[in-house]
Amino acid sequence: MSTAQREWYDSYLMPNYAPAPMIPVRGSGSRMWDQEGREYIDFAGGIAVNALGHAHPDLVAALTDQAGRLWHTANILATEPALNLARQLVELTFAEKVFFCNSGAEANEAALKLARRYAFDHHGKQKDRILAFDNAFHGRTLFTVTAGGQANYREGFGPLPGAIEHLPFNDTKALNEAFADDVCAVIVEPVQGEGGVIAADKTFLQAIRRLCDEHHALMILDEVQTGVGRVGTLYAYQAFDVVPDILTTGKGLGGGFPVAAALSKADVAESLKVGTHGSTWGGNPMGCAVASTVLDIVSSEAVLKGVSERRQRFEKALRTLGDKYGLFGEIRGMGLLIGCVLNEPWQGKARDLMHAAQEEGVFVLIAGASVLRMAPSLIIPEEDIAEGLERLERAIACFCESEKA
Ligand SMILES: *Cc1c(COP(=O)(O)O)cnc(C)c1O
Repeated sequence: MSTAQREWYDSYLMPNYAPAPMIPVRGSGSRMWDQEGREYIDFAGGIAVNALGHAHPDLVAALTDQAGRLWHTANILATEPALNLARQLVELTFAEKVFFCNSGAEANEAALKLARRYAFDHHGKQKDRILAFDNAFHGRTLFTVTAGGQANYREGFGPLPGAIEHLPFNDTKALNEAFADDVCAVIVEPVQGEGGVIAADKTFLQAIRRLCDEHHALMILDEVQTGVGRVGTLYAYQAFDVVPDILTTGKGLGGGFPVAAALSKADVAESLKVGTHGSTWGGNPMGCAVASTVLDIVSSEAVLKGVSERRQRFEKALRTLGDKYGLFGEIRGMGLLIGCVLNEPWQGKARDLMHAAQEEGVFVLIAGASVLRMAPSLIIPEEDIAEGLERLERAIACFCESEKA
């Protein structure tokens, strides 16, 4: 076989993504190398997925060990890795029951279906309204993209699932006004990731909790991006002092292997009776074996504390950079989910800045047109942070210079 080339992408793949011109072939920790052997620092972390960086030896061992034993059985048989992971998730969180699937969208799809079904079982089919928020992101299936708060992601895909309403994020007054007994669920991210790295106000999440209780609605917390240590607690709800009815987790859970889950209390889970929902690969032994190892490592106090320390380091350096070049003002988000909000003259240019960073050898993300986002490994070494920030500064200097010209 000949060596794969970037041009093949445009020939053979559907054009819904626009990947960088280079092709990475290897990663180790927070560094990656492309086909030419050029090295990059990874502040993108596969979009908040590579929680322990690339090729973490414990994850490689968990995966290869399981790969030599049993790959797949489907859910007609229980497997040891799925049982272990479910038990671990229950022990580490508020949850009593777990549903496994393969992606964040599927976890949210399961959560939304479960909420509708729970309302149907307990209150009747008129209780079907779902409240969601502007700029939210919950995935790309038709149900989850409809719950998401970006109209352009739904455009042209109708007819869409009904009885889903969007309210302004962090607006308790609007929430109060929209709530009624026909609401079956509220779905919300503790920190809007794709929507611009905006943390919910604690009082806002607590108001959702209170209104859900008053109206017998379920609170679904989408922790696909914020979960698994990303914000400095194992799950973000633990930092907000709010316990949801259903929580979804994906992205970092498998540290790069596709595995996701919806978690709930036992009484809620009762509504997913035999045959009501399913997934062929959900609970795949390899994904579960890797996820168990990820949770073992990330749930340790040292790793979680390290997230907060790294946050401080990033924030301090980014503030200095932002001030020096007048490029960004606000640094927002929580833990190692970091958003740098571009100042007025550079608004709409986050993508150009991301490309400039790539050229200097550091991967970053964007969240909308005017926010530079970073979601590095939770255990990124000190020297990689320093080196990555140096490269980012070079990119910023070039970028600011060329924008002036
Ligand atoms: C990424 C993301 C999803 C979708 O996850 P996929 O694995 O891409 O389906 C859902 N919710 C949030 C908050 C996300 O960040």
